[in-house]
Amino acid sequence: MEMYSGPINKLIEELSTLPGIGEKSAGRLAFHLINMPRAKVERLATTIMEAKDKVTYCSECYTLTDASVCPVCSNAKRDHSVIMVVENSRDLAAYEKTGKYEGVYHVLHGAISPMLGIGPGDIKLKELISRLQDDVVKEVIIATNSSLEGETTAMYISKLIKPTGVKVTRIASGVPVGGDLECIDEVTLLRALEGRVEI
Ligand code: ZN
Repeated sequence: MEMYSGPINKLIEELSTLPGIGEKSAGRLAFHLINMPRAKVERLATTIMEAKDKVTYCSECYTLTDASVCPVCSNAKRDHSVIMVVENSRDLAAYEKTGKYEGVYHVLHGAISPMLGIGPGDIKLKELISRLQDDVVKEVIIATNSSLEGETTAMYISKLIKPTGVKVTRIASGVPVGGDLECIDEVTLLRALEGRVEI
């Protein structure tokens, strides 16, 4: 990397910290950015900052939104007695795309991973439990990924919720192991949802 000037090296270094961007891609992006017209680079930088500043957590489901309550939670036609628990906002978007799920969501923003040092306190779990305090919620559907972390999280949530008497279900294992929910097609998602079992 020392073959480039300081600022370029720094840019490559920053870009390579993004998910899915290796050193090679980071280099390609860095040179592309530098060769772009200044106005375009400015627009990109402003767009990133605006998104960062305006997007916040929905006060109910914790998905990323630019409103205090997201469109799903503020929709009275949605079934607020069913909460689907997902790992991130992209998983929520995947289920929303099917247009068939009528309940609401809860976004954990991660999964429990002892290996990565991510514990129950690092994801939006107590926020989920506090949503169960009023008697509105009848079912919690756990739709975390079928990775080791996703399964660990599902088991943890199930143990936590069981004593409250709320029905806890897990989406069917039609979702491939280690598969990111967002990469799975709509038919598979719906089959996983319909085939959910009580745990
Ligand atoms: Zn919401």
